Amino acid sequence: MPELPEVETIKNDLLKKIIDAEVKSVETDWPKLFKGPDFEGHKKEIVGKKIIGVERRAKNLLIKLSDNKTLLIHLKMTGHLLVTDENIEIKYNRFIVDPKSPLSDPNNQFIHVVWHLLGGKKLAFSDLRKFGNILILDDHKLKEYLEDYGPEPLEDDFNYKKFACLLEKKKTGIKKFLMDQTNIAGIGNIYADEILFDSKIHPERDATDLKEEEKKALFASIKKILKKAVELRGTSVSDYRDTEGKKGAYGDIRLVYRKTGEPCPDNCGGRVKRIVVGGRGTHFCPVCQIKQPERSK
Ligand SMILES: [Zn+2]
Repeated sequence: MPELPEVETIKNDLLKKIIDAEVKSVETDWPKLFKGPDFEGHKKEIVGKKIIGVERRAKNLLIKLSDNKTLLIHLKMTGHLLVTDENIEIKYNRFIVDPKSPLSDPNNQFIHVVWHLLGGKKLAFSDLRKFGNILILDDHKLKEYLEDYGPEPLEDDFNYKKFACLLEKKKTGIKKFLMDQTNIAGIGNIYADEILFDSKIHPERDATDLKEEEKKALFASIKKILKKAVELRGTSVSDYRDTEGKKGAYGDIRLVYRKTGEPCPDNCGGRVKRIVVGGRGTHFCPVCQIKQPERSK
């Protein structure tokens, strides 16, 4: 699932590519993606509107429209957005492009919505599993929709003090804590594994049981890993692609995620192990990230 770095990359791309564009028409072969209003309502709301801004909150893309409403897109499991001048045959869910074009990557061939923009550009939603959510919300509804999310980890005002306070509140495993969007917004399975390896904390340690220096290391790793992943335009070990249909590069330097059996990146002699935590495949080094460190409190 696209996480903070992937959605941030898409947001930054869209800011360069679709600002001031007017929506001419919209088509879909999968109206169930439209969660309110329905597709017919969506069409009425969006056609003729200009795109005046693009923001991100947690894993949601917020495309600001000229009537002060917001087109909210949650990419869910396998969604991503493409911007192109190429022809799209929505009937076949795919681009008719040169095989050398990044758009010809099979992961970009699940087009289920196309917003045609004035001037010929298209904003296309590719989603293999078709779990994405597309909504149009007024300011009041938007506020309501977003109110349960925790702080944005890359914002300057997300500081160590705030993080330490959050950790005190919930007695839960640290990986589950990191992935809970009401604690911190935007971290999912990939970056939780990466952050926990970077700070050398076992994913099943209790969030309330971490030592001061472990909390500090964890806080630093959250900022460091997410920043690095944004810089490298996200992770594409699965189906995520950017708005040109290209892969992100964080996957090439990732530490442990989906590296089961490979040597520990810190050369400790251990090998990356996979366990299941809260129903999710979890990757860590059993030598560097031990489950029961000596008690400190
Ligand atoms: Zn190790």
